[in-house]
Amino acid sequence: MKTKVAFLVAFNAFLTHAQTTDEKMLKDLYHNALTQAHCYSWLDDLSNKIGARPSGSASAQKGIDYVKAQLETLGLDKVYVQEVMVPHWVRGEKETAYFKVNDKITLVPICALGGSVATDKKGLLAQVIEVHGLTELKQLGVEKVKGKIVFFNRPMEPDNIESFKSYGNCVDQRFAGAQEAAKFGAVGTIVRSMNLRLDDFPHTGMQSYGDLPKEQYIPTAAISTKGADLLSQQLKANNQLQFYMKMNCHQFEDVLSYNVVGEITGSQDPNKIMVVGGHLDSWDLADGAQDDGAGCVQAMETVELFKQLHYKPKNTIRVVLFMNEEFGGRGGNKYEELSKNNNENHIFALESDSGGFSPRGFSIEADEANFNKVIGWKTLFEPYLIHSFVKGHSGSDIEPLTSAKIVKAGLKPDSQRYFDYHHAANDRFDSVNKRELELGAATMASLLYLFDQYGID
Ligand SMILES: [Zn+2]
Repeated sequence: MKTKVAFLVAFNAFLTHAQTTDEKMLKDLYHNALTQAHCYSWLDDLSNKIGARPSGSASAQKGIDYVKAQLETLGLDKVYVQEVMVPHWVRGEKETAYFKVNDKITLVPICALGGSVATDKKGLLAQVIEVHGLTELKQLGVEKVKGKIVFFNRPMEPDNIESFKSYGNCVDQRFAGAQEAAKFGAVGTIVRSMNLRLDDFPHTGMQSYGDLPKEQYIPTAAISTKGADLLSQQLKANNQLQFYMKMNCHQFEDVLSYNVVGEITGSQDPNKIMVVGGHLDSWDLADGAQDDGAGCVQAMETVELFKQLHYKPKNTIRVVLFMNEEFGGRGGNKYEELSKNNNENHIFALESDSGGFSPRGFSIEADEANFNKVIGWKTLFEPYLIHSFVKGHSGSDIEPLTSAKIVKAGLKPDSQRYFDYHHAANDRFDSVNKRELELGAATMASLLYLFDQYGID
């Protein structure tokens, strides 16, 4: 027994010694994230003390003040804000909707889509025509669509392992449904919520009237998945049924708002900048703990972890909490504009905007050489069950960012439950698991560390 213990002690000592600096650093990052991080309590404050942070709202401003104050406690070299004008759309009194068959009324849950106009004060009552996409709408033409409410009811495909793919294949009917239906004389649109689950939550999200003249704008709302199934079923039995919707939203003048930036100045190459961020605005229906409170606090956590471990980055590291991702992306555009004006050189940008679930890997925008470089780090991530390194979209806020040479990455957590919450009233703090959130932060800090150490090719 004694020999065995002695052997184990010696063997462990050997292993420790054999660990490379990088293995040790990643181990420390994950250790600290799981034992000493503040991201979960920051998210608690953002969600439960401040709440929903739609662009241009008073609570969005409280969010800005809060994250700025927290960043100021971390001993960074600079903390500052960037002014940005943002749209200010307000939902107003909660929407009502029902369908009517032979004077029998059945209420269904709807919510206005972001940017929609209101119905008139009495509400809107019209017949419904169900379609499964923009192509089908166009095939029907004016004759079948004029005067009706168009009901877009194409469900998200259930058989993609990556649920964002199903979202991408479905979201056109939410984003452009109203502008297209209006061209055929529709009086309103409702769209099946972007949700893989059957439930009673309508999911909002951005929609656009495109180039339509203002007088052609029509009210547009999302209906819950259960409501959509019920309506579809009733329409099969009675295609003359009437649908009623009342919405009270309003678009106000743009409002002055801010991106929040915290910076550790690089110890060797201060002019090479690496961004890590999320977006501070949320939709108005809930506190947006998954979208994207989680991403904000994870980005903040990366620099806290570096500080805790006394790691001095070679390059400048900037945490950026972007404003207005959900409703036009003005914060991301402003960041890029200022970066260009200041002749800044960004070499790496990392965003977390896919929820606070268990991290699985990264979606990467890079040329072959730099992508292969990341693949070369795969084994370092294996102990933490991070295995998925794929080429693909990184993040909306860092999308506008350009530099002579830049690598971009998005944290990819497990996506199976993300669309249960996305843009809905249940996107709340209690849907985020503390350990999963912390593991995501450590995973981001690890990639940031590796790019800081080895640069880009
Ligand atoms: Zn988001």
